Amino acid sequence: MLRSVLLTLSMLLAASQAQADERIIGHMKPFTNELLNKPISLPCGVTIREWRGQSKPSPEAIKMMDSLCTKALNNFKPFIESQGLRSPRSGSLSWNWSIVPDGHCYRCLNDTKFRFAERFVRDELWGYTGRDQRYTFTISTVKRPIFKKVFTHEMFHAMSMYYGLYDQHSQDDYVKTETDEQLAEKFVEYMGYH
Ligand SMILES: [Zn+2]
Repeated sequence: MLRSVLLTLSMLLAASQAQADERIIGHMKPFTNELLNKPISLPCGVTIREWRGQSKPSPEAIKMMDSLCTKALNNFKPFIESQGLRSPRSGSLSWNWSIVPDGHCYRCLNDTKFRFAERFVRDELWGYTGRDQRYTFTISTVKRPIFKKVFTHEMFHAMSMYYGLYDQHSQDDYVKTETDEQLAEKFVEYMGYH
């Protein structure tokens, strides 16, 4: 009796070990073990839920993101109006953010084999925003000068998706993505990041 119980236990252990080793395809959002114990809510409406990789949450980095986020939010409407566009929705932004390890490793930003297997864009990226996931994923090297540009660019996509501008571009997903991409680049310039 004892033996069979032990055997069952060891089989269970083996099964859970196999599960832990299994690499999951297509789960873009962070897993529970990747989430911050306490999410960081920025006043602009962005909530940072995952922060892993080449940096750790620090007051300076949070302050920088807070300021970039508020600046982007305040400039969204004036910018799209300058382009002759209007977004169908308004109100407070609510968006999720993940700071993900750079590179191709498992669960990293350019892991297009597993985590981002279903990503629309296959190229090497610094940031990616998913409408259906309501999440933005960016590089974790927050001190690199490029980070401000990446953050602002992805903020544009996040606001465009949240406020319904993205869906208004076209019926075609390819056209939607292309149009939004061009606008995000113009927005970065408009905000003074080149
Ligand atoms: Zn983009």
